[in-house]
Amino acid sequence: MVQSPKTLIAGNWKMNGFSSDLSQFTAVVEALSKKPVPDCQVLLCPPVTILAAASTISENSALQTGAQNTHIAQSGAHTGDIGAAMLKDAGADFIIVGHSERRADHQETDGVVNAKAQSCLNAGLVPIICVGESQAERASGLALTVVEHQLNGSVPDCDETQEIVIAYEPVWAIGTGLVPDTDDITNMHAAIREWLVNRFGDKGHGIRILYGGSLKPSNAAQILPIANVNGGLIGGASLKSEDFLGIVYAV
Ligand code: PEP
Repeated sequence: MVQSPKTLIAGNWKMNGFSSDLSQFTAVVEALSKKPVPDCQVLLCPPVTILAAASTISENSALQTGAQNTHIAQSGAHTGDIGAAMLKDAGADFIIVGHSERRADHQETDGVVNAKAQSCLNAGLVPIICVGESQAERASGLALTVVEHQLNGSVPDCDETQEIVIAYEPVWAIGTGLVPDTDDITNMHAAIREWLVNRFGDKGHGIRILYGGSLKPSNAAQILPIANVNGGLIGGASLKSEDFLGIVYAV
């Protein structure tokens, strides 16, 4: 049996952050060097405009950096797009794919998300593949069905050496202050774990499943210990180092 994976606390800055905000990276790096959290991997995904600078600040520290999107190709005639190998070159270790905001704003289908995740793997990066139901889907009792359907379509094949991360982010909990109750998180994460083990065998026990949606320092200690919650994907509360570190130190 594969051991429980190390907790991952990942911040998604979305379309926020200027070079003046790189001080937040410096603050996280300094805090983690003074007070390390050995049981936790810490990641921040800034906008791509400051990714390289953020990666330079985080080099040789306990903070890793990632990107929020990639093109399905590594390079080529795709004006305005950026491939996974280029993001790796800018210092990314992880790339978020299939975030609900991209699924909604850019009509990204499960097939596109799958191709983007595959592209991350091809570049030697770890995709964080986001899934999650809408409020209407949960109200109709379809949450598990919807998430299973998204997993079927969005998760690429990968071999023993390749790593993927799943982020369960109920769309209605993102940026709203609403959080599912403990039983709902428990049931969804158990269902995702079962899906991963069915798909990948023993390797599925070691794949991290993050919870995302209004995770804050004030609720992290309730949510992070839930079975099969292997960390969090955090939007709003990742923008300020004090809030983000409050979640890291809750691990
Ligand atoms: C997110 O967008 O991935 C997210 C979880 O946002 P928030 O933490 O702000 O709800």
